Amino acid sequence: MSTDMIDLRSDTVTRPTAAMRAAMAAAEVGDDVFGDDPTVNRLQAAMAERLGFEAGLFLPTATQSNLVALMTHCQRGDEYIAGQQAHCYKYEAGGGAVLGSIQPQPVEHADDGSLRLDHVVAAIKADDFHYARTRLLALENTIGGRAVPLSSMRTLTDFAHGKGLATHLDGARLFNAATALGVPAGEVAHSFDSVTVCLSKGLGCPAGAVLVGTHDFIERARRPRKMLGGGMRQAGILAAAGLHALDHHVARLADDHALAARLADGLRNIDGITVNGPHTNMVFLQMDPTRLAAIEPAFAQQGILLHGYEGRMRLVTHLDVDAAGIERVIAAFKGFFARVPAQS
Ligand SMILES: *Cc1c(COP(=O)(O)O)cnc(C)c1O
Repeated sequence: MSTDMIDLRSDTVTRPTAAMRAAMAAAEVGDDVFGDDPTVNRLQAAMAERLGFEAGLFLPTATQSNLVALMTHCQRGDEYIAGQQAHCYKYEAGGGAVLGSIQPQPVEHADDGSLRLDHVVAAIKADDFHYARTRLLALENTIGGRAVPLSSMRTLTDFAHGKGLATHLDGARLFNAATALGVPAGEVAHSFDSVTVCLSKGLGCPAGAVLVGTHDFIERARRPRKMLGGGMRQAGILAAAGLHALDHHVARLADDHALAARLADGLRNIDGITVNGPHTNMVFLQMDPTRLAAIEPAFAQQGILLHGYEGRMRLVTHLDVDAAGIERVIAAFKGFFARVPAQS
C-alpha cells in the first residue's frame, strides 16, 4: 500500500514500524512449546505484571485466547454468559460451542455497552439436570469502541464471583479502555479471573495476544492452546513486537483517541451523516443506503479505505493515520456528500 493511502477500516491494518521490526529481528528465541523462548517468557511475564496477574500465555490471536479461556474455565456441557454483541459470542464463528461444546447464554446490553445486573441474575441457571451448568461470565472492554465504566464491571464480577462463577474479560482493546478511563490497565483487568489482550489492534503488532490469569489457570490453558494449534515454536520473533509495543505504543493510544475526536467533529456538521462517537479510537456513521453503498468505492479511488457493515460505517484511527490524513478524510466526506445525492 502506498504511504499516502489512508486505511480507516480497522486498527488491525497497521504495519510494524522500523523500530518494531528491528526489535523482532534482534529477538532471542527458543522453542516455546518447551517453554524455552526467552522473549515469549518475558512478554508473558511483562503483560501479567502490568495487569496484576500471576502468569501469562502467548497466543497467535485474541480469538484463540478467548476460546482457550472459555475451554479452560468451562467443561463440555457448561455455559458462559456474554453480551449479544460480545466478540467471543458473535464474532468468533461460534468457537466456544463448536470446539468447546460450551453453550453460550447471550444477554442484551445496557446503553453503555455493559451488561445489566438483573439480566445476568436472570440468566444464571439453577443447579438442575434440565439445564446446562452456568460456569462463566465473559465481559468485554472496550466494546464497540466504548470504554465501559469500571463500577459497572465490578458490580457484575463481584456478583458472579459470589455465585461461584468464573469471570473472563475480553480486553482485546483493554489499553484503549484504560486510556479513555484514565486509569492504569491493571484497574480495568483486576476484578477478573482471566483477561485477553490483543497485540495486533491499537498496539500495532503484526500478530499475537496474551491471556493472563493465575499460575494454575495458565498451566491448564496450555492444553487447549496446544489442541487448537496455538503452540508456536520460535515465537519470540512475534513476542518481541509485543514487548516493543508495551514500551512504545501504549501512551500514544491517546493520540488515536484525539484523532477520532477530531474526525467526529469534522463530520458532525455534514448534512446526511449521523455521527455516533467518538468512542476511544472509533467513530460510527449512519447515512442513507445509497450513499453507504457508493462511498467505499468512491473513497478507494482517492486512496481512502472505509468499511461499512451491518448498515453503518465504522472509522478507526491507529498508528498509521496522522492529523493531516484525518483532515484529508474530512474533506473527502464533505466533497462526497455535496456531490452524491441521498436516495429520493
Ligand atoms: C479483534 C478482537 C478480538 C479478536 O482478535 P484477533 O486477534 O483478530 O483474533 C477479540 N475480541 C475483541 C473485543 C476484538 O476487538
